[in-house]
Amino acid sequence: MIAKKMVDYVKGSSVIRAMFEEGKIMAEKYGAENVYDFSLGNPSVEPPVKVKEAIKNILDSENPNFVHGYMNNSGYENVREKIANHLNKEFGTKLGVKNILMTVGAAGGLNVILKTLIDPQDEVLVFAPYFGEYNNYIANYDGVRVVVAPNPPSFQPNLKDMEEKITAKTKAVIINNPNNPTGVVYKKEIIEEMAKILEKKEKEFGTSIYLIADEPYRELAFDGAVVPYLTNHYHNTIVGYSYSKSLSLPGERIGYLVIPDEVDDAENVQQAANIANRILGFVNAPSLMQLAVAECVEEKTNVDAYDANRKLLYEGLTELGFECVKPEGAFYLWMKACEEDDKAFVAKAKEFNLLLVPGSSFAGPGYVRIAYCVSNDMIKRSLAAFKKLAEAYNLK
Ligand code: PLP
Repeated sequence: MIAKKMVDYVKGSSVIRAMFEEGKIMAEKYGAENVYDFSLGNPSVEPPVKVKEAIKNILDSENPNFVHGYMNNSGYENVREKIANHLNKEFGTKLGVKNILMTVGAAGGLNVILKTLIDPQDEVLVFAPYFGEYNNYIANYDGVRVVVAPNPPSFQPNLKDMEEKITAKTKAVIINNPNNPTGVVYKKEIIEEMAKILEKKEKEFGTSIYLIADEPYRELAFDGAVVPYLTNHYHNTIVGYSYSKSLSLPGERIGYLVIPDEVDDAENVQQAANIANRILGFVNAPSLMQLAVAECVEEKTNVDAYDANRKLLYEGLTELGFECVKPEGAFYLWMKACEEDDKAFVAKAKEFNLLLVPGSSFAGPGYVRIAYCVSNDMIKRSLAAFKKLAEAYNLK
């Protein structure tokens, strides 16, 4: 018999993953070129050449016992130093080695920081629609997830609702910018206002409210959209970063947490996070990948390729009469379902071999998420299928 807690996890097992598996079956049945799988956030752009060169170089020139060995649970000091220096240069921060903890991707980082901070029944706020895995990560530590209502049509954070939902038990607020699933970039003015509310509430309740900035899509911002660096706006910010999307390395599981000295109880938080990384069983982030990303701090993915996809898809869909939130970041497009039940709409789309994810799996019912980290050619081919879908709902 499996653990009771796991029974619920198994029941709620990811819709997105299930769809990805289904896409593979459909591709066998109809031919891969006739299936338009927009379900998973797996980057289509290749990692920069420098990543491969760095890996080869490390394997050729370093002692294998070092490359494949254990190190400090927080990661190699020189790797953390390079990352801290890079962040200081980019964002004017004053970070050092002790402020960086190398993690097993953003998912690993979020679990480490939640384990570090959350006591059972502590409340963690998330802004709908949000990355569904947050539910599981918060539940891992018996925290209570509190959902802040969505804010259509802009989908900027709903600060009024946030303020109302903060209580003496609020320990953390998770914010994901640029956003999965909406593709929205949260604006600086909104972040500043959010920071003021959090500070006010900390004073009111005499508590610490940590803002966890989940930033795997930081570099994916279009049309000059600026993604504010949150440590510069709110003293109790912890940043979770990942190279999964920025260097197209999702399977390699590499990222880091930034725990600045300005956060309340900083030294204990840093030390506890180091231990959490160990006792969660990660022990440390993958060694070879730590060494590789340290050589690639200045590297950027091909943002233009995603931008071209974004324009093609957004223009194509709006032209057909679909109602879309114009994406400014990440590689997702948030589109209104053409009927109230987004799952029924997704099922209809599947009749035309279009695989979309229902908004309800992100606590955003009535919408669907379209992941456009696919080939540009697939988007071009998919527009005829979207046209049939539009016709099925008599759009235009
Ligand atoms: N946070 C968000 C918002 C994501 O979209 C993802 C992955 O898609 C993650 C975290 C996890 O990223 P990683 O692969 O770095 O664990």
